[in-house]
Parts: sequence; structure tokens; C-alpha cells
Amino acid sequence: MGLTSKSTGIHAVDSGLEIKKQTPQDKVIAIAGNPNVGKSTVFNGLTGMNQHTGNWPGKTVSNAQGYCETKENTYVLVDIPGTYSLMAHSAEEEVARNFICFGQPDATVVVCDATCLERNLNLVLQTIEISKKVIVCVNLMDEAKRKHIKINLKTLSQRLQVPVIGITARKKSNLCFVTDALDRLFASKTQTQPYHIAYSKPIEDAIAVLEPVLQEKTAGKINARWLSLRLLDRDDSLLRELQAHLQTDLTKDPQVQKALAAAQAILKANGISASNIKDKIVSCIVKKAEEICFYAVTYEKSNYNAFDRRLDEILTSRWAGYPVMIALLLLIFFITITGANVLSDFLSDGLFYIEDRLTDLFTYMGAPEWLHSMLVLGVYRVLAWVVSVMLPPMAIFFPLFTLLEDAGYLPRVAYNLDKPFRKCCACGKQALSMCMGFGCNAAGIVGCRIIDSPRERLIAMLTNNFVPCNGRFPMMITMITIFFIGVSGGLFNSLLSALFLTGIILIGIIMTFVVSRLLSKTILKGVASSFTLELPPYRRPQIGKVILRSVFDRTLFVLGRAAVIAAPAGLLIWLMANIKVGDLSLLHHCSSFLDPFARLLGLDGVILMAFILGIPANEIVLPIAIMAYLAQGNIMQMDDLNTLHQLLVENGWTWITAISTMLFSLMHWPCSTTLITIHKESGSFKWTALAFAIPTICGMVVCFVFTTIARLF
Ligand code: GDP
Repeated sequence: MGLTSKSTGIHAVDSGLEIKKQTPQDKVIAIAGNPNVGKSTVFNGLTGMNQHTGNWPGKTVSNAQGYCETKENTYVLVDIPGTYSLMAHSAEEEVARNFICFGQPDATVVVCDATCLERNLNLVLQTIEISKKVIVCVNLMDEAKRKHIKINLKTLSQRLQVPVIGITARKKSNLCFVTDALDRLFASKTQTQPYHIAYSKPIEDAIAVLEPVLQEKTAGKINARWLSLRLLDRDDSLLRELQAHLQTDLTKDPQVQKALAAAQAILKANGISASNIKDKIVSCIVKKAEEICFYAVTYEKSNYNAFDRRLDEILTSRWAGYPVMIALLLLIFFITITGANVLSDFLSDGLFYIEDRLTDLFTYMGAPEWLHSMLVLGVYRVLAWVVSVMLPPMAIFFPLFTLLEDAGYLPRVAYNLDKPFRKCCACGKQALSMCMGFGCNAAGIVGCRIIDSPRERLIAMLTNNFVPCNGRFPMMITMITIFFIGVSGGLFNSLLSALFLTGIILIGIIMTFVVSRLLSKTILKGVASSFTLELPPYRRPQIGKVILRSVFDRTLFVLGRAAVIAAPAGLLIWLMANIKVGDLSLLHHCSSFLDPFARLLGLDGVILMAFILGIPANEIVLPIAIMAYLAQGNIMQMDDLNTLHQLLVENGWTWITAISTMLFSLMHWPCSTTLITIHKESGSFKWTALAFAIPTICGMVVCFVFTTIARLF
């Protein structure tokens, strides 16, 4: 749970194979499994880390590692992206496959979903086919029980010939089953062998020709039977990885070439070609999974998914899909704004009380006025503003959004938005990276890895900034409150503010569609690719944990980042306001320089300068502007939104300035963290520059057009 850049793996091990052991005896354990089966929940529970968990497939995009100690061993656990198969299609599936196949983990724990075990067994079978030490961890046993699905773990273990455990990963008490099983696995002296799936006769005959040659050539470095199959089905991306892993190109070896040609001849004689061999292999695996589940799984109720299906009929229907989406967004904003008003007043009272006491302290100590002015009215005041204005909306919005995520609503949003995205020749999964952008645009950019097509991934990256991150919408809420709704509060006013904010967000979403279409008709030409997006089962969110984790992982993290940047920014602004060049301050010179251009956009020099100085973090744009006005103006106490309104109006703000500021906040350059992430993900300065230019140009054009029209009336 959590959509911060930290939690989506920006810090994670990107190459996927670089493991940091604390001691050479540490055992490396891969936590594999289909998407959305609880891998990260297991990983977090065992390592005490906070990898992003959420009820939708594809949210883990790179490997992350953590440590876990038992009485017997120390384990380095590696949480790898979800994958349905080792025959990888997408970038994150390749990360998973590479780690299982070439990362040489000491053991692999394959986490499965007890409510759809048969589908999960596809990956289990492929994994036990290549790996020697595997534990199958059947998770979500609570959900299975609720749906009246019974799993016979003993039968499953006998049939798969590996240890099988059943757990409910959300229950901490269940996690010791995993470590116990690992300890037992490493204590056991019996040498386990990779599982032998029986394929059809021609495929077995072809393997028989290739396997001995490969066994000799790879010197046992990799399972030769498995490798024979991969050479036969010509998985190019895997062969490239293999070449890097073995440091030799097997396909160029004359003996391998000869054996491969003989094996292919056997297949051809039996009507199996390069184009259909993969299907033949997969169908054998699927049949095996069916057979195992026939003996190990009992469905006590035939329509165990009836509720989910009925709910999906409503939430993804043509008539209710969009209204429900908009209503939920509105509801989240309504609760956020109502709660934030109360919390904000409370915080600002407390923080400005502290400011007065700090002033008393400085006076008492006889500190010079410039020092008091710099530290208290400069640094502290900006920090107090960041905390009192930014914290409340974040602290409320984050948990609410995460509850929707945990319940499984986000994939339904992607499903609903697939059609309009396809019309723009983009990918429906872009809706998921867009949703992540609400938390943090940098996280949204990393989340674009779930999109397979490079063209569509770039479109998603270039347009992600049109969704305002949580650093931006507290400023929007403030603008709406003080200029349009009034600061008196009340439920009706909160509802109006929420409607206003939803409208602004919808403009951002419309811009996403418009720009996606423009890009796919110009520099990123192409047709929309098809994709399968699983609609995961609805799950009851863990309310307590969501609140706790949202506050600690996300709110405090984002706030901390803002504060770290706000303090020096406060100092910088104070210095700029107090260093005189001629008769006027540096600040005055800078804002006067920007002023004529800014006014064309409906802004003024100060707010444009605040946007520029706010590049490190969007959270500090408003505090910088306030500081700049305070440094020039005559109001020195900033303890509520009325005073802020007064300050802005005294500095020439009108409703046009407020709307232009909101529009520019919605559409301007991404923050520096997001830009760095875009560069890292795209590997190109060109795309990073475009990601900077596109929202900026859009914002300038929209603001200019809006201001020109508004001034006419
Ligand atoms: P991953 O994609 O495999 O890493 O899955 P996550 O760990 O992100 O979990 C997916 C969703 O399933 C999250 O909403 C979890 O809270 C939820 N979840 C995980 N384990 C359990 C469990 O044992 N029971 C229930 N009811 N939900 C679980």
C-alpha cells in the first residue's frame, strides 16, 4: 500500500540480479508468484520493509530485497515482480524470469492465490521445472475459506514433490510458517530434483536429442532439459539473457546447432513448427495444473465468485462506470477538504503559537533582529506553512485513496478508461500509472513499466504530469477555498470545493487524452496494442494498516521531503528579499523581470518565480510565494486563510489569478525527482526534455487563452 516513489521501487535493485548479502552464509530467497497474490505482503511481513502492496496486478515493477533472520539462518529475501509465466512478455516479467532463472537464488518461494490455484500452478510448474529448492506458499487461505474453496495441501505437496504451506499473509502469526518451511528445506539433506513435466512425444524426442549436448556445453550451470525447451521455442529475450549469463552464445556452437537442427526436424515431421511449439508446451503445463487441482482443490459452492461478478457488472458498466468513478473522486475530495479544514486550523493555531514563543525567546536572548527575521520569519514560517497547509489534505487523501486501491477498484478504473485511451491510440493500463501519479508523479513514471509497448509507455510517461500529485492539490484546495468558496467552512462549502477540484482534475485527465492522441498521431505514431488486464477479486481493505502506513510511509515521507526543501528555500527567499541591488531587493528584481511574461498567463512575477524555485518539490510553491509577498508586503502575521486571502488580494490577485495559478499548477514542468525518474526510465535526455516541455507549453497556452478570454469579459 502506498504510492510514493520510495514504495514503488525507485530505490530497488533495478538490474534484478545484484544481491547484497550481509554474510556469505546468507541464503538468497526469491519471492515469486503471479501478480497480486500477496508476495509483497509476505516480503514486508518477514523483512519489516514497506514495499508497495495494492490489490492490482503489476504494481511491483522491480526487485527489492530485505533481510529476515531465524534461529537457523539469515535470509536475503527478494520480492520480484509478479509474473504468470517464465515465458516473459513484459519488462517486469523479464525481471522476474531473469531472477528465477539466472539469479541463482538458494531457494524460491512461489506465492499462490488459494482462490485460483489452477492458474497459479502454471508458474509453479515452470519454476519447479528449473529450480531445485522450491516452496509453494498458498496464500489468501482466508479468502478461499470465505469462498468455500478447500485446498488439500498434503495432496498438493505430494503431486508437486515440493513442500507446500498454506497461509494468510495478512496475519503476522502465519508468517513463521514460511520461515519454518525455509529452515526445514535447508536442514534437509535430501537432494531435490527439478520436476519433470511430461510433454508430448515429439517434444520429448526433440529434448532427448538436445539435452545431452547442452548438459555438456553448460557444464551443469543450468538445467539442460529446461534449456532444450527454450532453444526449441526460440525465446529471443531469454536467449539474450542466457548468453550474458553463460558468457557464450550457445546458438553459435556447431554441436548445439547440429543437435538443434535434428531436434527441429523431429518436431517438423510431427507438425510442430516454431510458431506453435510454445502453445504445445504451455498446453501440457496447463493440463498438468488441471490434473493436480482436480485432486487437491474442492469447490464447495459453484458460484463462489457471484458477488464480485455482480459488483463488476455495475462498476464497469457503460451507464454506471464513469459516474461511479467521478462520484468516488468527488467523495474522496469532499472528505479530504472537510477534514483538512478542521485539521489545518488546529495545526496553524499550534504552529503559529510556537512562532510567537520563538519570537519571545529570540527577544529574551537579545538576538539581533536580522537573525530573528531570517530564522523565525524566514525558515520557520515557511516550514509552518508547509505543515499546516500541506499535511492535512495529504494525511486524509492518502489513506482514502489507498483504501480504494486495497479493495481492488483501480483495475476497474483502467478497464473503464481503456476505451478512451485506445481511441487516443494509447494503452488502457495508462489509467493505472495515472492513478499512481495522484500519489507521486515519480511513482507514476516508474509504474509505466506495466505498459508493454515502448511507444505507449513513453506516451504514459510524457503525460503523467497532467495528474496533480499530492504535493500540488493542497495548493489548489487553498485557492478554491479562499477565492471561490470562502473560508467559513461547512459541509455545503466543502462539497462545492470538492466539485471545483474534481473539475480541475478532470481538465488534467482530458489533457492527458488530448496530448496522448496528439503524440500518437505525431512523434509516437502507432496503433493501440491489445493487453489483458486481470480484474482482481475485491478484497476487504485493512483499514487500520492503511491509515498507519499511509501516514508513516507516505504523508510523513512526502512532508519530510517538502520540509527539507522548504527550509533552505525559506532561507533563500529571505536572503533574496534582504539583499539589495540598488534600492530594490534581489527578489523584487527577479519577480519584476518575470512579471510582464507572467501577467500574459494571468499570473504575476512572484508566483511564476515560486513555480521556478519550486522545481525541487511542488509542495513549496505556495509557501515560497507567500514568503516573497511577505518580504515585500506589510502583513506580517499569517495565521489563517483569511489573512492569506488579504495578502494575495493586496498583491493584486483576482479570481483570474487564482484560476490561472491552479491551471498552471496542473500543467507545468514536472518536479526534479520526476524529471530524474523520467530520464532514468527512458534513458534519454530528449524524452526528458519533452516531458518538461509538453506540460509547460500546454499550461502556458491554456493560461494565456483563459486569461485573454476572462479579461475580455
Ligand atoms: P503482490 O502483487 O503479489 O505483491 O500482492 P500484494 O502483497 O500487494 O497483495 C495484494 C493484495 O492482497 C493487497 O491488497 C493485500 O492487502 C492483499 N492480501 C495479501 N495477502 C492477503 C491475505 O492473506 N488475505 C487477504 N484477505 N488479503 C491479502
